[in-house]
Amino acid sequence: MERFISHVTQKEIKTEKQKARLLKNSSWWRKKISKRRCYYCGKEVPENELTMDHVIPLIRGGKSVKSNIVPACKECNTKKKYMLPIEWDQYLQSLNFFDSEAIL
Ligand SMILES: [Zn+2]
Repeated sequence: MERFISHVTQKEIKTEKQKARLLKNSSWWRKKISKRRCYYCGKEVPENELTMDHVIPLIRGGKSVKSNIVPACKECNTKKKYMLPIEWDQYLQSLNFFDSEAIL
């Protein structure tokens, strides 16, 4: 697993996490979660159950920028955390995520 984290330092991750926290307090994020929809599975979710998710995880070089941050339900968030990237892709495929342009 080390090869995944070798190019991202703990310090960089810390910085990105701080940025994410700032974004979480922004009106941009509040507007996002006010749609009450999980970005991945499209399920309707109460605002307080939507979590902030990095499409490209910080550990793999993703940044805390608006284009990389989406609201996700707890189920998707947990799955994403524990699945290998390839398993996650398969999960998204099972949701027809790649076919539904509306959600992208
Ligand atoms: Zn979901």
